Amino acid sequence: MSTETPQKFEFQAEIKQLLDIVIHSLYTEKEIFVRELVSNASDALEKLRHTQLTEKEIFDDKLDLEINVTTDDKAKTITIQDFGIGMSREELVKYLGTIAHSGSKQFLKALGEGGQKNANLIGQFGVGFYSAFMVAKAVKVYSRSWRKDEPGHVWISDGSGSYQIEPSEGERRGTKIVIELKDDASDFAQDGTVKEILERYSAFVSFPINLNGKRVNTVQALWLRNKNEIKDEEYTEFYKFQAHAYDEPRLRLHFSADAPLAINALLFVPKENTEKFGFARLEQSVALYCRKVLIDAKPKNLLPEWLRFLKGVVDSEDLPLNISRETMQDKALIEKLNKVITKRFLKFLEEEAKNRVDAYNEFYSEFGIFLKEGAAMDFAHKDQLVKLLRFESSITEKGKTTSLADYVSRMGSEQKEIYYLVGPSRAAIESGPYLEGFKARNLEVLFCYEAVDEYVMNNVREFDGKKLTAADHADVKLSDLPKPEGALSEDDTKKLTAWLKDTLGERVAEVKASDRLVDSPALALNADKFMSPHMRRMMKAMNKDGADTPLRVNLEINPRSPVMKRLFETHTSTPDKAKLVAEQILDNALISAGLLDDATPMVARLYKLLESV
Ligand code: ADP
Ligand code: MG
Repeated sequence: MSTETPQKFEFQAEIKQLLDIVIHSLYTEKEIFVRELVSNASDALEKLRHTQLTEKEIFDDKLDLEINVTTDDKAKTITIQDFGIGMSREELVKYLGTIAHSGSKQFLKALGEGGQKNANLIGQFGVGFYSAFMVAKAVKVYSRSWRKDEPGHVWISDGSGSYQIEPSEGERRGTKIVIELKDDASDFAQDGTVKEILERYSAFVSFPINLNGKRVNTVQALWLRNKNEIKDEEYTEFYKFQAHAYDEPRLRLHFSADAPLAINALLFVPKENTEKFGFARLEQSVALYCRKVLIDAKPKNLLPEWLRFLKGVVDSEDLPLNISRETMQDKALIEKLNKVITKRFLKFLEEEAKNRVDAYNEFYSEFGIFLKEGAAMDFAHKDQLVKLLRFESSITEKGKTTSLADYVSRMGSEQKEIYYLVGPSRAAIESGPYLEGFKARNLEVLFCYEAVDEYVMNNVREFDGKKLTAADHADVKLSDLPKPEGALSEDDTKKLTAWLKDTLGERVAEVKASDRLVDSPALALNADKFMSPHMRRMMKAMNKDGADTPLRVNLEINPRSPVMKRLFETHTSTPDKAKLVAEQILDNALISAGLLDDATPMVARLYKLLESV
């Protein structure tokens, strides 16, 4: 029998200050006290597990390592009990009466620096155990240490300046926290309310959690297990549970690292990119855990924006448990995590691209758009991302792609730039006039079909020291080809281009003989440096002002083309008809360039031409 009498203690000044704020702030997320107390219980069990490794003499050694939560809606109480390491009398004083807890220290420091008592600050810091006082009229902490000779005690406080400790007979090992709820917090005495909170925050606490005798957390902290022991189905089940998904994951990366940070991560790429279907923009949803306790289900800066399609879990022991959603934004630690995980994931994609080509290509056709976004916007990862991009090209088969590295490996020594063409489809690009000059010179051209490609190519700018160049840009210079038989002489060509410029007037900026045409009679090149044909099309589609600026193109003609030879013959003999033909040639070129705004005049002209046949 203990002869000890109840003893009253004053809280340390800082704790008083903290409690005052906790109790009086209108902190909206009151439910986080559940998470804090469960995570403390989990820590206590973890510590006991460790102690068991080295100590033989442990009190109540047969107890299961579990957490029991009970609610009593008549008495308006919630109780959280663990069979963990427990606390002795001295430990109760030290841990619950003084400020040992780093989160609370940080909190008070921030308060001090802020100069004012800013109650909003509380939302930015976990206050650990003291968060119980947000909902409690009174808190009773029954605890008994694992040490055999330590008797049990109960620590009691209503959160005002003091607490009391007295002996408590018949305690089992561990800690039982009974919270007598405030009237406005009586919801936490409801089984349903607490169940929902536990499922959300503590589903992956690796110790069993029972709520009113029923197990709540069925899913294990899969990411902490050895990957050789995990079956595919387990991964899939976890993915579905964690991401609230119904599909099967397409790719997964399970890795751990010790340096520079201790990380266990399990990342999934879903089967489909829902943004593609026009669903809402995806939100970051790789959850952040610290030792199996959820810190934030949707941490904003844990991963770069373009990785918002990933699902899964990142668990880092190096995070302070009390870190909360609001502090995440400016945490150097989060930045470090971001760096490590992004780098690792990019490496993983590189390996996939090398070792599982088909799977990678399927992934790419679904999620490549995010990699492009990253390549264009995320300077830090641009180089790695650009390597992962894939394009069809003038030498790949339809549906097959090439990387920029492979393109470069095929470049001849005289080729200095990487060429690409943007168009709605392979067929459209291949039947247009731009490609033939490149084909005739054995120059490979990448095909870009997506609306963002032009933007991406412009931002990426170069690869491996080679400039990315639009093949339909007016500045592109191509080498001379041997002059074929029967072309218009240089003199005649000059006459014809001058006549064309004259005839077409304002519609063209310049007319000249082309070095890029092989079969087609003519092509139109964009003379506007600031608005590419593709951009113009997009602006028009979006009905933006830019589309109304008068179009100025360079017309390039092919002196080898029978059409041009015939035009040269007729431009003096039947000038009226030749003029119609010239207009029609320009319109045809504009159609191929996707630049013809209004086809109506063309139809009338064609009828006129048909009359004269
Ligand atoms: P933190 O968990 O970050 O250390 P808390 O304010 O949550 O901060 O808890 C303060 C301390 O109280 C803990 O470090 C621990 O030593 C002790 N403690 C709290 N809950 C328990 C428990 N259930 N079992 C044993 N010790 C506990
Ligand atoms: Mg804690």
